[in-house]
Parts: sequence; C-alpha cells; structure tokens
Amino acid sequence: MSDDDPAADGDADADDFRIETRAIHAGQEPDPETGALMTPIHANSTYEQDAPGDHRGYEYSRTGNPTRTDLEENLAALESGSHARCFSSGMGAINTVLNLLSAGDHVVAGDDVYGGTHRILTQVYDEYDVDTTFVDTTDLDAVREAMEPNTELVWVETPTNPLMNVNDIGALAEVAHEGDALCAVDNTFATPYLQRPLEHGADVVCQSLTKYLGGHSDTIGGALIVDDADLDERIGFYQNSVGATPGPFDAFLVLRGTKTLPVRMDRHCENAAELAEWLDAHDDVSRVYYPGLESHPHHDLAAEQMDDFGGMLSFEFDGTLEQASTVVEETEVFTLAESLGGVESLIEQPAAMTHAAIPREERLAAGLSDGLIRVSVGIEHVDDMKADLQRAFDRALE
Ligand SMILES: *Cc1c(COP(=O)(O)O)cnc(C)c1O
Repeated sequence: MSDDDPAADGDADADDFRIETRAIHAGQEPDPETGALMTPIHANSTYEQDAPGDHRGYEYSRTGNPTRTDLEENLAALESGSHARCFSSGMGAINTVLNLLSAGDHVVAGDDVYGGTHRILTQVYDEYDVDTTFVDTTDLDAVREAMEPNTELVWVETPTNPLMNVNDIGALAEVAHEGDALCAVDNTFATPYLQRPLEHGADVVCQSLTKYLGGHSDTIGGALIVDDADLDERIGFYQNSVGATPGPFDAFLVLRGTKTLPVRMDRHCENAAELAEWLDAHDDVSRVYYPGLESHPHHDLAAEQMDDFGGMLSFEFDGTLEQASTVVEETEVFTLAESLGGVESLIEQPAAMTHAAIPREERLAAGLSDGLIRVSVGIEHVDDMKADLQRAFDRALE
C-alpha cells in the first residue's frame, strides 16, 4: 500500500523498509543467546548490576523492560518516528502528554475528541488550572481564534468518533506551531498503516494500542511516538515518574498484533468500503458517515492524508431510538460492545451508550441522531455482515 522508498543503499535497517516489512522486523531480532525468533516475555522486575550503577541497559522494569523496548522500537518505526514510549492504556499515554503542561497553560482540542480525553481535560486537568477550549477542528479559523498566548497544546483526533470527521493534520500543526504550541494527534482510528501524523508535522502521536495495533480485543495499552529525542526524554521522565507502564505480557501481545496490522487493515478497509456502499444504497438508512464515500464532506482531505479510509463507519438507521436499539441488540455477526479495532465486528448506538449522558437537544445539534449506529467493521466475510444487518433491520421494523 505504501510506496515510500526504502533506502536500498548500505546496510539493511528495519527502519528503512516499507511499512509491511517494518511491522514484522522493526525492533525484532532473534534472541542472541538462544536464536529464538520471537521476543521473550521478560517477566522480571529488576536486573543484575556488575558494579553499582554498572548495568546492561536495564535497572528496573518500570523504567525499562526488554519486551517493552522491542515494542517501542516497532511502534516508532511504524509511525515514522525516532522514539516511542508505551503505557498501560491509551489514557495513560494521553495523561503523559498532559503531564508536559503546567498550571496556567491552555489547550485547544477538538469538540468531538474521545470521551476519555474530554473527561481528563475537563475533570482532571481543569482542577490543576489547565483550561481547554473545545472547537470544531475542521474549521481552521475557529482553531486560530481559540489560540491564546498561553496555549501550549493543540489536540487533534482524525477521523473522529462517531461522525468520522477528518481533520487536516498539516494545517493544524502549522496553527499550533505559529502559537509555539505542540500538536498532538490521536491516531488510534487510522493507525500508522493508513496515516502517519509525524510526516505531516505533528509533534506527538498517541495510540490506544487496545484497538487496531493490538487488534484482537485481548489487551489494553497505549503509546506516544515522537521524532525528537528531547521531547522523548521529557515524555520518558513522566513515563517513569508516573509509572503507568505496561507489563511484558501486554507488550508481547501488542507486538504480536502489530506484525499483522497491514493485512488486517487491508481487510478492514475493504469490508468497510463495501459495507458503506451497501448501507448508502439501503432504503432503511438515511445517511452513512464513511470518509471513503465521495459524499463524505471531507472525502478529498481523507484521500490526501490517508492511504485508505479505515474500518470505522457510522450510519443513521431510519427509525426511532428504540428501533435502533433493536438493531444493535439483534445482530449476531456484530457484537454489541464499545471499543473497536479488533478482528471481530462490533456495533454500538451512541445515543443510548457512549453519548447517552449528553442532553438530547445538544446531542441532536451535534449531529448525533437517535438512530445513529456506529460499527467497527471486522475482518469476517462482508456478505455475512450485510445479511446480519438486514436481519436486524427487518426485526426492528416488524
Ligand atoms: C480507546 C481510545 C482511547 C483510550 O484508550 P484506552 O486504551 O481505552 O485507554 C483514546 N483515543 C481513542 C480515539 C480511542 O478510541
């Protein structure tokens, strides 16, 4: 999919290869002692020192663990960064970006960021005198207007949840930098296979490894990736000081997931595109939100910024809140659950689940209708997905 030129000159370094090859080889060397191909799960807390302070790179596993190091190197290579740091959850990673701020600083963030991001900004950092202005980040003038002299961070997510708005990373990074602020991008929905924000000028990339990078709905994790050694060192200080680091088994699971990221994403994208077309033509569906559809308001930007359009989509079922609830309850191929990015298809109803706390009028004004349904399109056979949705639609409308 990506045709960036691998440096064919000189010694082969995993970082020089195309992303499909980097996914499998970056940070991965056979164990020098045994020849074991796969990174061992270093279930270990502390490390022998030959003399006080004289160690072989590791002292204590909160600070560094070899399984985690291999994952960090792999993720840095995937995101076109120089350094990565892993955390015990996506929120642990997001918190660490916010640790870089001080009381009195200001943040500009998208008004449709992940709910946990909204919560930590408004209910945790607000208490520490860090104010956030939430704006429509698809409107660059609104973002410029929201910038204050004390704005230190512009937080961007793209595509966003659940309406799949696409934000212009390069333009937003420029606005951030004009104001001497950092630009952080939550790249969870797109993954580095489809979009590499550092290449567009972002300073920090955040990943919830729980989603596509892990890919199998069997672990929780997060990461921050940068292309700047000084910034990495600052992040590393908070990673170690706060201590929300993943255990080696979680790091191993994610490393197992990243190897197949490209093939999984190809299928996620293919299935989502076909399902989006099918839904778009369906009489019981009034609107489909998928950046791959030409009717999507940000289709051209998505086509430019992303290598493909991803596996997430939402649609408006033409019915009441209750009828849409019946749809999500009746599907069998699609499991009713929050989260996304695993090989299995998931379905949820924002108005009754993730966004239920928002008053109805406000929710409708934000474009989240009663019949809105979000799906994480898995890698099952797409015909089974269509049949499953058709059965659920019929049930809901009978
Ligand atoms: C899930 C998610 C997070 C939070 O990650 P956790 O691993 O659940 O802590 C952050 N951003 C986005 C876009 C997510 O989908």
